[in-house]
Amino acid sequence: MNDNALREQMVNLAQSLFMRGYSSGGSGNLSARLQDGGYLITPTNSSLGSLDPATLSELDKNGNWLSGEKPSKEALMHLAFYQQRADVGGVVHLHSTWLTALSCLPGLDATNCLPPITPYYVMRVGKLPLIRYLRPGHPELADEVGKQASGHNAMLLANHGPVVGGSSLREAVFNAEELEDTARLWFTLRPHGLVTLTDEQVAELHTAFNTKKAS
Ligand SMILES: [Zn+2]
Repeated sequence: MNDNALREQMVNLAQSLFMRGYSSGGSGNLSARLQDGGYLITPTNSSLGSLDPATLSELDKNGNWLSGEKPSKEALMHLAFYQQRADVGGVVHLHSTWLTALSCLPGLDATNCLPPITPYYVMRVGKLPLIRYLRPGHPELADEVGKQASGHNAMLLANHGPVVGGSSLREAVFNAEELEDTARLWFTLRPHGLVTLTDEQVAELHTAFNTKKAS
């Protein structure tokens, strides 16, 4: 995909997330890897509902700001993800309601905050590690994301929200949507008890769909 098409796609995907309530106000940021090795990212204090393809922030491969509006203060976190994963083409960070609610619960399993409820959650995300609370934009937050990104497609920032990667921006958005919907299912089912997939069923999915990275 050429850079102009990618800019249009970022605006359209961001608007779609905004319109469906995955992001509100100025929260959330999207990024994508460009053909030259640089990055496109949504500007700071922008609404995902009203982005302009011409003013998206462009960074070089080292994260230096080249053009467009000032990049999101969470850009370092996105870069940390890409630096660990040559196979990742897009990263999405949201403050979506159900995942943010999950990130505030006490007693979470830091190695996996959401059990394997459905096959698509297993295939797209697999496990969701928790990253300890650090303020938005804190340099150590990027370090912590980098440490988890090599083995996971998504992670949950404590008292904040999810960070999700994908092979392309579109795939990253799909992964983020699947993850948010899984959190909503989990909260809905929690009072009733729920059946989760067994270790054998999870292993079968990773083998059948070659999604070992997310295990
Ligand atoms: Zn944030």
